[in-house]
Amino acid sequence: MTNKDLHRYVEVINHKKPKLIKSYAGSLYQLAKFVKENNLSIHSPKRIHTSAETLRQFMRELIEEVFNCKIYDFYGSREVGAIAGECAKGKMHIFNFNNHLEVVDKNNKSVQLGEEGRILITTLHNYSMPLIRYEIGDTGILGKPCNCGSKLPTLEKITGRVKDHFLTREGTLVDGGYFTRQFYFRNWIDEFQVLQTDFEKIDIYYIPIGQPVENEMAEICDKIKQAMGEKCEIKWHQVEEVPRTPQGKLLYTRSLVEN
Ligand SMILES: [Zn+2]
Repeated sequence: MTNKDLHRYVEVINHKKPKLIKSYAGSLYQLAKFVKENNLSIHSPKRIHTSAETLRQFMRELIEEVFNCKIYDFYGSREVGAIAGECAKGKMHIFNFNNHLEVVDKNNKSVQLGEEGRILITTLHNYSMPLIRYEIGDTGILGKPCNCGSKLPTLEKITGRVKDHFLTREGTLVDGGYFTRQFYFRNWIDEFQVLQTDFEKIDIYYIPIGQPVENEMAEICDKIKQAMGEKCEIKWHQVEEVPRTPQGKLLYTRSLVEN
């Protein structure tokens, strides 16, 4: 999205005054950042639904502040549709009327409550192309019942896409969130992606705002090495655009190492 596009989106939202805004989490974050940085005013909807990309805490805070509206995050996929949605208490409720969801270990057996495992989905309404115990590529933790009044079971956490995790040579999985955290409050970075191409090789693609801050770059490298090992080679690449997935998602972290 160029600045021209973002300007147009602000105009359209201010003109149409929607009650509901549905968006990819990352795209709305980009729009919120643009509104704030340019001191623009934007219409406040009654609800915001985000989905498709992980809604990180810093994204939620900025979007809610700029739009002056609470976000309800959704979890789903193109293949199986809606899987879970957030309630007023902030818990992710599983839409078990739409899909059957299991959290399993490496032998495909259900894990204990509170334990992390791979998420398997069985579609309940897709008669032309049923998906049975379909591995969606995410990991998660089942949660306790919620006191919001909904009887739907909950997911305590969706721990990101399996391919968001970085694998070390020793076999440790490092959650992608660890890397994104290193980029919080770095005002000189507009967009970024941390890409693991081999056990000890990491490329950082970034779009700077003004001059890159060298001591902060060194700090980020140190933190990455703490998790990935001292031998880890980290290369910075200044780019004009961070590539999206074919579906248009911006992944902050991506690993090409099989795990
Ligand atoms: Zn609830």
